[in-house]
Amino acid sequence: MRFWIVKNAWWMRWADGMVIGPWVWLRFRKVRKNPMTEYQRREGEQNVAWNQRIYRHELEHVYQIVKVGRLKFYWRYLADAVKNSYRKIPAEVEAYAHQNEPLTPKEVKWLADGKIKV
Ligand SMILES: [Zn+2]
Repeated sequence: MRFWIVKNAWWMRWADGMVIGPWVWLRFRKVRKNPMTEYQRREGEQNVAWNQRIYRHELEHVYQIVKVGRLKFYWRYLADAVKNSYRKIPAEVEAYAHQNEPLTPKEVKWLADGKIKV
């Protein structure tokens, strides 16, 4: 299955990440290339970690979609969302449980390429 990564779409205001059809939408925090101060350097480090977490979280949804198929994933997600608060939706519980895992070399490459092939 193929997915395309789209970063910082203008309309993404209410979520930091989302997987819709073949698109993985990510709202990344800015990371300065040349930090001038210690504060900026630390801020950059925190934002890199934040962005990685957002990406890893959405990747978990990608893996869930690959496992059960798109239709079943969204159907189940919506059915669970009606019954549960956001953090108790089983797909979210799983994604939050995995979002702090380090990225594999393959996952790093996908992010650099802007496309995922699983
Ligand atoms: Zn999620």
